[in-house]
Amino acid sequence: MKADVPRQCLTDADRVSLRARLQAFAIIDSASECWHFSGALNNNGYGVIGVGRRVMYAHRAAYEVLVGPIPEGLTIDHLCRNRACINPTHLEPVTFRENVRRAAALKAECPRGHAYDDANTYVTPAGRRDCRACGREDKRRAKRVRNADQQVSAVLP
Ligand SMILES: [Zn+2]
Ligand SMILES: [Zn+2]
Repeated sequence: MKADVPRQCLTDADRVSLRARLQAFAIIDSASECWHFSGALNNNGYGVIGVGRRVMYAHRAAYEVLVGPIPEGLTIDHLCRNRACINPTHLEPVTFRENVRRAAALKAECPRGHAYDDANTYVTPAGRRDCRACGREDKRRAKRVRNADQQVSAVLP
């Protein structure tokens, strides 16, 4: 199945139909302002939507319909990193190279944003990368919880 259709194939009728369906499928998250696509998602978590007998990415469709044509050869980057999001203000056309660079930069940090550099990275025997700063934070948190526990047991009979 071809996952995308060139924009030349989108007729005015396609655009009208896409706009109505994208609106119907969009669930707006008030915190992130992401427009979560509640239609079909592909295996990679991207929304997909039918155009005639073909299928295209929902976020690309949203950009084409609500913003304008995606410049030739550019891919759409999700600034919010939420693949199912179709909010056009969260979408930016970038070169494939830039998209890959951004994805790699994301992997250079732990989920809390600490750099995975030599000093901060501990590789487990299983080959998983662990963030030392997170490890310290978790230990401190565990200690606080333990201290609170001891204080509680000290005042209890
Ligand atoms: Zn978003
Ligand atoms: Zn971390």
